[in-house]
Amino acid sequence: MHNEENNEKKSTMNPCEQLDEETLFMVSQTFKALSDTTRIRILHLLSQRECSVNEIAEELSLLQTTVSHQLRFLKNLRLVKFRRAGTTLYYSQDDQHVMDLLQQAIHHACHD
Ligand SMILES: [Zn+2]
Repeated sequence: MHNEENNEKKSTMNPCEQLDEETLFMVSQTFKALSDTTRIRILHLLSQRECSVNEIAEELSLLQTTVSHQLRFLKNLRLVKFRRAGTTLYYSQDDQHVMDLLQQAIHHACHD
């Protein structure tokens, strides 16, 4: 996806000085991921523990198809990962930055 020249440029650039198109897109995708109440509930649960699709559906009273759909979305953004145990997939959070953002937003929603 990136050539070496681009990577070199990126690593020496202060990330706050200039937002290139790719960075802007990824930032907007991050907030998009956090802009849906179902995804927020799933991410919050996975920030606490690893869960199978069944466990997420049961814990949050959601349809399994809904959970699977949202997990695919979150997996594409590399915000969750899974491991396979037999026929069961166990999902967990895969990005501490975004978990920190979520935690900040929850604190913001709850403070006076
Ligand atoms: Zn606040």
